[in-house]
Amino acid sequence: MDCIFCKIAKGEIPCKKAYEDDRVLAFYDLDPQAPAHILLIPKEHIVSAWEITPENSAVVGHIFEVAAKLARELHLEGGFRLVNNCGEDGGQTVQHLHVHLLGGRSMQWPPG
Ligand code: 5GP
Ligand code: ZN
Repeated sequence: MDCIFCKIAKGEIPCKKAYEDDRVLAFYDLDPQAPAHILLIPKEHIVSAWEITPENSAVVGHIFEVAAKLARELHLEGGFRLVNNCGEDGGQTVQHLHVHLLGGRSMQWPPG
């Protein structure tokens, strides 16, 4: 399967890792949109939030747990943002579920 995030998860494409365990990988975004910009992905290939089901949803909770741990490690006491872009209208460009952890600057709302 030609999925760039699966290749990163398998170590076939290098990344700057922030966290890894058997289910989740967190790595720094190549094109950071904030002073801290980390992507959290399940190692299992799930295309998007559209594909979340009772059978595969546990990893989503684990991703949030890892995001909170990373936010604490990065001293984002002032706050941070977790973003999931889903599908074309959501602005998803990589078709492997991922959550963006963004921090280190004040965020705007609503997003563009
Ligand atoms: P999306 O637009 O799908 O929500 O987010 C995809 C993100 O993946 C973008 O922020 C983009 O910069 C990042 N990205 C795409 N390809 C790579 C890559 O090969 N390595 C890393 N570290 N980030 C990538
Ligand atoms: Zn994948």
